[in-house]
Amino acid sequence: MKNNYYHENKNEITLFKMAAEQRVPLMLTGPTGCGKTRLVEHMGDVLGREVITISCHDDLTSSDLVGRFMVTGGDVIWSDGPLTKAVKEGAICYMDEVVEARHDSLAVLHSLTDHRRTLYLDRAGETIPAPDTFMLVCSYNPAYRSSLKELKPSFRQRFVTVAIDYLPADREAEVLVNEADISLPVAERLVKCANSIRNADDVFHFEPPSTRVLVTAAKMIASGASELEATEVCVLAPLSSDGAIASGLAELAAAHL
Ligand code: ADP
Repeated sequence: MKNNYYHENKNEITLFKMAAEQRVPLMLTGPTGCGKTRLVEHMGDVLGREVITISCHDDLTSSDLVGRFMVTGGDVIWSDGPLTKAVKEGAICYMDEVVEARHDSLAVLHSLTDHRRTLYLDRAGETIPAPDTFMLVCSYNPAYRSSLKELKPSFRQRFVTVAIDYLPADREAEVLVNEADISLPVAERLVKCANSIRNADDVFHFEPPSTRVLVTAAKMIASGASELEATEVCVLAPLSSDGAIASGLAELAAAHL
């Protein structure tokens, strides 16, 4: 199995390459666990660039991104944050779940995401023009119902936005075979089971099972779990703790396994 194997859904690899060539920032949207991170890692391999990942959260400050002065051994020295490192090294900076970050923390990205392509480090008094290989890629899940957070439209319009979704059933099954070394018929049953829950989305109001949970279930099966057992612990149990919903899900799943 190749490390950062990525199975293309539509044209996202081509669009990623075009954005990289034109040095414009890219926004990947789609449900959790559908392959956004894997695509970025894969493109890092394809383009021969390091990927520096920042997992965004609501306590993330602009100093966490760009860096800060630190006291070490009596000296005060500047320490680059991951965004500054990525700019200096001409890497791909991947900001995962960018919607979680506070708007004011993201303001530092403005000069990097327009024609200036420059990072201004006010505190360090430094101005760093981004090399051609620097690329900013952000991702978020717009359908996450329990999230009240939204990205500002003015921020979103700075990006080429590529929507990613779960793969069609036959190709999602291939991903499971590739990632977890299970047989194709077993993979197909897992995907059928997931799709029946995804299609019952109107009834069950939660994030549908992702490719990620299917990969985990497939790995458990590769280690000897039964299909029902793996589905229960990897796919169904993480979805809902409500007993009635859980038994409804179990029935749906059992029909396919
Ligand atoms: P996201 O970043 O969208 O939450 P990930 O990229 O972390 O999701 O995907 C979760 C896992 O699902 C990956 O580690 C990989 O095993 C698998 N996966 C999902 N989509 C694909 C794909 N298109 N090609 C290969 N693997 C995939």
